[in-house]
Amino acid sequence: MNARISRNNLVGLDRQELEGVAQSLGKAPYRGRQLFHALYRRRERNLAALTELDTKFRADLAAHYEIAYPEIQGEFTSQDGSARYLLRLQQKTSIETVYMPEEERTTLCLSSQAGCAVDCRFCFTALLGLERNLSAGEILGQVLAVAEARRIPPDSRLNLVFMGMGEPLLNLAQVMRAIRIFTDPQGLSIPLRRITISTSGIVPRMRDLACDPMRPKLAISLNASSEPQRTELMPINRKYPLSDLMRACREYPLRPRELLTFEYVLLGGFNDADADAVRVADLLRGMRAKVNLIPYNPGSELPYRPSPLERLLAFQRLLTERSIPAYIRISRGQDIRAACGQLSLEGIRHSAIHAQDGFR
Ligand code: SAH
Ligand code: SF4
Repeated sequence: MNARISRNNLVGLDRQELEGVAQSLGKAPYRGRQLFHALYRRRERNLAALTELDTKFRADLAAHYEIAYPEIQGEFTSQDGSARYLLRLQQKTSIETVYMPEEERTTLCLSSQAGCAVDCRFCFTALLGLERNLSAGEILGQVLAVAEARRIPPDSRLNLVFMGMGEPLLNLAQVMRAIRIFTDPQGLSIPLRRITISTSGIVPRMRDLACDPMRPKLAISLNASSEPQRTELMPINRKYPLSDLMRACREYPLRPRELLTFEYVLLGGFNDADADAVRVADLLRGMRAKVNLIPYNPGSELPYRPSPLERLLAFQRLLTERSIPAYIRISRGQDIRAACGQLSLEGIRHSAIHAQDGFR
């Protein structure tokens, strides 16, 4: 009889749950807190290496539990130094996480769902549809797996952005559960101000977030300057119209010096006219906000084309002239399809390939 014992993953459990694990194995709750520190603050990988715990407890733990990260199925490295990771989760689900190193810090772009149900017309993730929500453990696992692969030490400066696959506000409970462990000083110890959630505008969940003292920074994918234009690009605008969205934004509580970020993907000949810029400025008048102008990342499956650079610059100027800070965000990782809206599991059929020099 050697039926394989299936062990439970500790990654994703919070402090109280780990205290419960310790107690279930006959130990005091503080042993669970030591586990929390080992798992998240030190990012230990091996239960046998937790020498602060006695040998019997370690053996009991190892008999029932494991420390499992998502499996890296593919790694596609861009010429600009960023990398797209294809990660394999439970139930054969695959997702993507993007690594973007900068001089002073590293930003990780996380997925909150496998696929997305929101169906924005310019987004490649939309073409996948929604497979399922990710668990908090799978959200944490993205950071742990990429930090391990890239040998990012526990004390280095990490920024997290929920701008990968999925709509984070349609999986808010698990996203917030992960955020509580990310920000815990005994956990990954990443300050709230370095975590951003980007949303297509799920108004009721924005209001829930507004009431949560643990709310991270918020970015709103605006992408249009009028109701009909936004409905055409983002069908979710029928359910949560621009007028309601802007009201929720105006009511959103901001900390000192905090700004709301509005993302605006410029689609050539569609939403990039001078009149669009003026309407965006009107929508945002008086708000503590900035605009990130994102050049459209095109692909043959989608009907749009990028705006020429002079339109991007004119759009930016029209906003800044109206006292709205606007920045042009050149997406990183375009050559490996890791840029904004490009995450669509490309390369999944080539999972055995570990491409170091870019892969398309
Ligand atoms: N679902 C969330 C977060 C993921 S999308 C949201 O929509 O905000 C992250 C950003 O990528 C959004 O601002 C979206 O507008 C942008 N995006 C989607 N497809 C894009 C594309 N093809 N080119 C450039 N940006 C895109
Ligand atoms: Fe989903 Fe965001 Fe893509 Fe829209 S832009 S389909 S909300 S991932």
